[in-house]
Amino acid sequence: MITLILTAAGTGARAGFGENKIFKIIDGVTVLEKAYAAFSATGLINEYIVTASPADEARIRELLPRAKVVTGGETRTKSVYNGLKAASGEIVVIHDAARPFVTESIIKSAIESVKKYGSGIAAYPSPDTLCDGSDGYITRTIGKKDKYIIQTPQAFCLKDILAAYEKADGDEPDDSALYLKHIGKPHLSEGSPQNRKLTFKEDFIFGNRIGNGYDTHRFAENRKLILGGVEIPCEKGLIGHSDADVVTHAVMDALLSAAGLRDIGYYFPDTDDAYKDISSMALLERVTALLKARGFKASNVTVAILAEKPKLSPHIPDIKRNLAAALNIDATRVGVTATTTEGLGFIGREEGIAAYATALIEK
Ligand code: MG
Repeated sequence: MITLILTAAGTGARAGFGENKIFKIIDGVTVLEKAYAAFSATGLINEYIVTASPADEARIRELLPRAKVVTGGETRTKSVYNGLKAASGEIVVIHDAARPFVTESIIKSAIESVKKYGSGIAAYPSPDTLCDGSDGYITRTIGKKDKYIIQTPQAFCLKDILAAYEKADGDEPDDSALYLKHIGKPHLSEGSPQNRKLTFKEDFIFGNRIGNGYDTHRFAENRKLILGGVEIPCEKGLIGHSDADVVTHAVMDALLSAAGLRDIGYYFPDTDDAYKDISSMALLERVTALLKARGFKASNVTVAILAEKPKLSPHIPDIKRNLAAALNIDATRVGVTATTTEGLGFIGREEGIAAYATALIEK
């Protein structure tokens, strides 16, 4: 039998939310529920314990009705000790509730390690050189060879870790430190930078961001009409430095704007011959790459096309498909509508075509 202890007794004060950070919503659920769900999805856990500060206990009971809520102490060591005393599994897995991105593979690795070696500590090799520092100076360079970043989950045999806690005489950095001090060398298991701990306010900015884009191009003779990368039969086309794909231009500006970046005129100036007659779909792929480099991906995109003629509805499925392919998202996440302006204004006089786009991007 395996018991999970989720440690949630801290105040999460460093995130500065005025409430425990484990109650913040990510992916539609609280951080606490997301961490819990990662473990329950493995089907390996038989008992759930959450250590909580008295102020949070009622709310945690409401969120996780299957879990036993145990009052924490003033230090992490005391809180975990209280959790261990309430545990009944032969194996206990201790995990920070503020690490909601833990994967099934990391959880299984810790549990397999405890079965084989008596303990399993999630850790990964340090990619950076570590040092001791004091008063703004490096006092000792530790290096990175054989250095690991320790995370949770940390899995133990209950009797061993309980024995280590009974000998604890102060606050230890974590459970593996106590185990090392009183029981023996803990065994490393799989860890990952993705299994990060949410500590500061910035850690919680995953966010969806929205942006708008608008573009107009004028009709001219002897030009192709390209909208969303689709060549549409028409006696006139749109004029511009590139292929004058007004739809794709509006979409690109919406995406760039959502990411807080500059507009397409900045990245692809019409004074640059490199962009003369270039396919705007190729530029859209570059915009997708610009966003990706900043950790953003399109979530969904919509575009409204204003044109008196030609009739666009037969081409809309192809436009959606093209945009979706360049954005690397499913076509159901691209919306394209077309309308006339009832003969009013420059659109109505058939002088050109305009497009409005909205993009939602996610980090
Ligand atoms: Mg344009």
